[in-house]
Amino acid sequence: MVNLACPVCGSSVEVPSDSLPGELFECGDCGAQLEYFVDEKNAASLRVAEEVAEDWGQ
Ligand SMILES: [Zn+2]
Repeated sequence: MVNLACPVCGSSVEVPSDSLPGELFECGDCGAQLEYFVDEKNAASLRVAEEVAEDWGQ
């Protein structure tokens, strides 16, 4: 497991070390839906998942 910071509340979220980019996790503290993300330098982080039902206003 690796601990990554929740971008919403800042608490650490445990994710399996074999997670794939795009996998979704839920922050146990604030309940935010978080997407596992790996940048071009292979650094893992979490970002807020896009809500499917969101109205983009376009
Ligand atoms: Zn959180």
